[in-house]
Amino acid sequence: MPYYYGYGFGIDPLYLLVVLVCTVLGLAAQNYINSTYKTWSKVRSDGDTGATVARRMLDANGCSAVGIKGVAGELTDHYNPQDNNLYLSDANRSGGSVASVAVACHEAGHAAQRQSGYAMMKVRTALVPVVNFTQNTWTIVLLLGLFMNIAGLTTLALIFFSFSVLFQLVTLPVEIDASRRAVAYIEQSGMSSKQVNGAKKVLTAAALTYVAAALTSIIQLLYLMARYNRNSNR
Ligand SMILES: [Zn+2]
Repeated sequence: MPYYYGYGFGIDPLYLLVVLVCTVLGLAAQNYINSTYKTWSKVRSDGDTGATVARRMLDANGCSAVGIKGVAGELTDHYNPQDNNLYLSDANRSGGSVASVAVACHEAGHAAQRQSGYAMMKVRTALVPVVNFTQNTWTIVLLLGLFMNIAGLTTLALIFFSFSVLFQLVTLPVEIDASRRAVAYIEQSGMSSKQVNGAKKVLTAAALTYVAAALTSIIQLLYLMARYNRNSNR
């Protein structure tokens, strides 16, 4: 029993390795999107701003009711299904670079997903309240399980954490599909093939950050499961 506590809270080399791998993965993905975005921010698209092209893409997808608003920060762009608005960062809203157009059209892609009743987006939206709850409580449940030595609570914590993993996995097709819609629109918008390729690179780099996040949560879950099994076998 004391060893159990010690194992649960002592320094575990495998845990340090897991943290290191996840941190490196996350940083590499972040670094890649930042540099790709920077590169294509310097290449002008054929004269139109991110907001203008996104507006056209929204209208072409039956999303005329979707508004476009500004949001502070860099790469803070998102679509809010609650108020049905695209929020574009200043650089992407009023900027006319290939990167601006790519990001703005990706967000318009999310609005188009909602408009067309894209199933994975519905699943993702349904998971949001569940994940908000499980993400805030799984560590507390895990600590309670370890302190009180109740295996059922530890298992419950792992089930709670699994919802975060599921959410990351469902996020992947939603993000990739939004980018696919953006590229499909950009390809027929009259941009040169060099610019279309640039937009694809920016969106692929953005997708890799979601892949890194999903991998990180899978690695964490595997680690937690391995540790839990070792404990319960003792
Ligand atoms: Zn997105």
